Amino acid sequence: MGFMIRGSNIVVVGAARSGLALARYLAAQGGRVTLSDQRAAANLAGLEGLAELEVAFDLAGHSEACFSAADLIVISPGVPLTQPLLAAAVRRGTPVIGEIELAFEELRAPMVAVAGTNGKSTVTTLIGLIFSCWGKKTFVGGNLGMPLICAAEEKGWDWIVAEVSSFQLEAILTFRPRYGLMLNITEDHLDRYPNMGAYTAAKANLFLNMESSDTAVLNADDPLVMELAGRVRAQRVLFSSRQELPQGIGFNGSEIVWCWQGEERRFAAAELRLRGLHNVENVMAALVPALLEGCPPSLAWEAVCSFGGLEHRMVLVRTLDGVAWYNDSKGTNVGSVVKSLAGLASPVTLIAGGKDKGGDYAPLRQPLRDKVAHLILIGEAASRMEEALLDATHVVRAAGLREAVDLARELTPFGGSVLLSPACSSFDMFTSFEDRGRQFSELVLGLEERKDAAASGGAG
Ligand code: ADP
Repeated sequence: MGFMIRGSNIVVVGAARSGLALARYLAAQGGRVTLSDQRAAANLAGLEGLAELEVAFDLAGHSEACFSAADLIVISPGVPLTQPLLAAAVRRGTPVIGEIELAFEELRAPMVAVAGTNGKSTVTTLIGLIFSCWGKKTFVGGNLGMPLICAAEEKGWDWIVAEVSSFQLEAILTFRPRYGLMLNITEDHLDRYPNMGAYTAAKANLFLNMESSDTAVLNADDPLVMELAGRVRAQRVLFSSRQELPQGIGFNGSEIVWCWQGEERRFAAAELRLRGLHNVENVMAALVPALLEGCPPSLAWEAVCSFGGLEHRMVLVRTLDGVAWYNDSKGTNVGSVVKSLAGLASPVTLIAGGKDKGGDYAPLRQPLRDKVAHLILIGEAASRMEEALLDATHVVRAAGLREAVDLARELTPFGGSVLLSPACSSFDMFTSFEDRGRQFSELVLGLEERKDAAASGGAG
């Protein structure tokens, strides 16, 4: 088992965070590593430390000679397998694997892998928290935080909790988590995948090597997830936010109910700090691995109750002149915006738009009709969104985030809320969703209270 690293020619493709971590790890294990990227050195950061590890570089484009001399190619999540030099390597029979495959082979600890369109980071963090509170030495990372390969640099992990994206799941061979969670599957990333079938197929790879001694945790309310369920060989545990389940974990509107092999546990959802039905789903999914592993239920529950949520996911930035301002910059696809709107009362002013991922915006129409009085659009996707949503609510365009915030200030009445939840990625105008969320929060915190509101007793 495992890949021969020492003395092998290994090309690492992509010199961003995972690529740098891969190169460092592989070189330290005695591999002859070349780090390859389309970008030139001037546009890359963090290469300095690698030269002393004798990592070679193939920058400003990928060279054929370098790829054809490789015994093993390890790709970063941003790199598609359709890249011509990679496709050629696969045809030649050179193993082409993703970072999570390599990490899986190098790690000896049991793994919980969290996949799905939305909620991955929240659930990954929750599971990490539960296992840590339970006293287990737990690595939390993957698509969020530290790349998974960083875990392999240290020994003695009891558990690895990994957030895995569909991109990462494309390039696996033997990757086999002990627990595989599929939270939901809704439209996303149609700029990278030709259609939903291809996106779903990439996600389904999570279950590829899981056997009956492993456990798949599946969203019973999600038709695309349940379509996959039939082909899963692992033991299945379902969760549902619509009903209690005779076997699995369900929700009756006030209690989360865990029923498993004659055991029943009830948890009062009102004790959670996380808000919204989607977070009830996240909590249910997160509890399953720990409960099955024998973690005392009261301890697991205490851990999830202590968690107030991650930054840039439905964070209340401030209340100003009777208007609540929310930063949901991580709302980067239609499905997540729908969930975020579901948690707010009308009237909402929604600021959306950004880099278009080529999906369908129509599922936003009904939630917009129900909740959103004004839709303010920014970024590259604005025209296509306007076309799709014009008949659902009042739509205005803004040149940038500052203008959008000013417009929202004008348009939103006392008692309403303003929500930044873009349904798009951020890369047209920002460096990341974090950058977008931070800029939004700064603009909102910089708004001055209205004099008339202060005069009428609104201070504080
Ligand atoms: P991911 O890591 O999959 O992007 P996050 O936990 O960062 O997920 O949440 C991203 C956004 O998705 C949140 O801002 C929220 O609006 C939405 N979201 C979170 N959990 C869920 C869920 N279970 N179902 C649908 N949407 C969700």
